[in-house]
Amino acid sequence: MGVLTFFGGIHPYDGKDISKDKEIVDYLPKGECVYPLSQHIGTPAVPIVKKGDEVLVGQKIAEAGGFVSANIHSGVSGTVKAIETRMTVSGNKVNSIIIDNDGKFTEMDFSKNIKPLESMYREDVKEAIKEAGIVGMGGAGFPTHVKLSPKNENDIDTIIVNGAECEPYLTSDYRRMIETPGKLIAGLQIVVNLFDNAKGIIAVEDNKPDAIRLLKEMTADIDNITVNAVKTKYPQGAERQLIFANTGREINSSMLPADAGCIVHNVDTIIAIYNAIIEGRPLYERIVTVTGDAVEDTANFSVRLGTNIRELIDAVGGFNIKDPAKIISGGPMMGKALFTLDAPIVKGSSALLCFREDVVSDLTPSNCIRCGRCVEVCPGRVMPNRLADMAEHGDIDGFFKYEGMECCECGCCSYVCPAKRHLTQIISSTRKQVLADRKR
Ligand code: SF4
Ligand code: SF4
Repeated sequence: MGVLTFFGGIHPYDGKDISKDKEIVDYLPKGECVYPLSQHIGTPAVPIVKKGDEVLVGQKIAEAGGFVSANIHSGVSGTVKAIETRMTVSGNKVNSIIIDNDGKFTEMDFSKNIKPLESMYREDVKEAIKEAGIVGMGGAGFPTHVKLSPKNENDIDTIIVNGAECEPYLTSDYRRMIETPGKLIAGLQIVVNLFDNAKGIIAVEDNKPDAIRLLKEMTADIDNITVNAVKTKYPQGAERQLIFANTGREINSSMLPADAGCIVHNVDTIIAIYNAIIEGRPLYERIVTVTGDAVEDTANFSVRLGTNIRELIDAVGGFNIKDPAKIISGGPMMGKALFTLDAPIVKGSSALLCFREDVVSDLTPSNCIRCGRCVEVCPGRVMPNRLADMAEHGDIDGFFKYEGMECCECGCCSYVCPAKRHLTQIISSTRKQVLADRKR
C-alpha cells in the first residue's frame, strides 16, 4: 500500500530540526496567570471564584456556560487578584480571571477524582472529560465531551489521533508521541471504548519514522488500534484531509466528521483525556514549542495554562534581535500573528514562533497571471483565483456557486501564488462574513 494522502497540498520548509530533539521540560510560571473565560468554541465559561479567593493547582475557577462550553482550572496556586478584561492571542480583550501566583504550586488532591476505569459507565467517562475542561488542543478548541456525543453513536467506527503535525516548526506532538506513547495509546483506548463499533488509528506523517516505529511496536498486540504513516504534506493534519487519507471518506463544509463515522482528536487532547481519567488531573497544562530564528534557543515546554507569553520567550534566553519581524501563536500557515507578548497561553496554544523576517507581509501583490498553481494545490478542490476575484467584487452568489465555503483556509494557494495575491485572506474574510450572516 502506498503512503496515505489527499488531493493537492504543498511541501513548505518544515523547520522542525531546530526543536525536534528538545525534550519536554516543565516550565513553572513566575508571574500572575490569566485565564480568559472564552478559550474554546461556544459559550464563555462563568467564574465561580471571586477576588480574594485562594485557589490551588487544578481547582475549577470557571464553569461551562452551556452544553457547548468548557470548565477552566487554575494551573497555579495563589489568590484571585481580579476578574477583568485582558488581551488574548486573538488580539481581542476577553473577560479573564487573574490569579496572583504564590509560586508554591500547591495541588488539589487529584486522587479524589480517580475511579477504577472498569467501574465507570461510558457516561461517567464523558462526564469526567467534561469536568476536566478538555477541548480540542490543536487550536480549534471545540469541547471534547460534545465531540464524543454524536447523534448516532453506533455509526462511529473510526477514532483518528492526529499525529500528523503538518504545520512547519511545530514539534510538541512529536515529543509527546515519543516521550509518552503509553499514555497516548491508553488515552486512545479510553475513547475507542466509548463506542460499540469503533477502532482507533494513530496517523503520523512519514517524516517522523521513529514515532511511527515506536507506536507500531507498542500497539502490535492491540487488535483495535493501528498506526498509519501518512504522507508528509501540508495540510495533512486538517480534519477533512486526515479522514480522507485514512478512510477514503469525504466530508464537506456542511458535514461533521461524525457524518463519515469518524472522530478526530489532537495528540495533546488524547493525553489530557488520559490525565483526567487515569490520574484525576483536569486540563491545566499543555505542551508549547518555542522556536524560530529570532530566539536565542528553542524548547518544548510543558506550560501551565495562563502563563504569560513573554515569560516563555525569556525562558529560552529571549530574542536574539532587537525587534523580531513576526511572532506567531500556532503554526506559520494557520497561526495568529501576535501584536503583544502580554497575552496568556491558553488551551489551544501549540507554539510560539519568532522570526527575524516577515516574508509574507513584505510582499506586494500583483495581478493574477493565470498560472493555475493555486488550483493545483487547493485541497478543497476549489478555484482560489476565481473565488478571490468574486470576493473582491462582492459577488456572493458566484462565491457560493464556485463552492467558496469548501475552503478550509489552509493557506496553500497564497503560499504558491507567484503574484503574491492574498488569496486565503480574501476568501477567508468572505467566508466569515457569510457565516456571520447565516447566524443572524
Ligand atoms: S482556497 Fe482555501 S482550501 Fe484552497 S488552497 Fe486556498 S486556503 Fe486552502
Ligand atoms: S496562483 Fe496566483 S497568479 Fe497563479 S492563477 Fe492563482 S491567483 Fe493567479
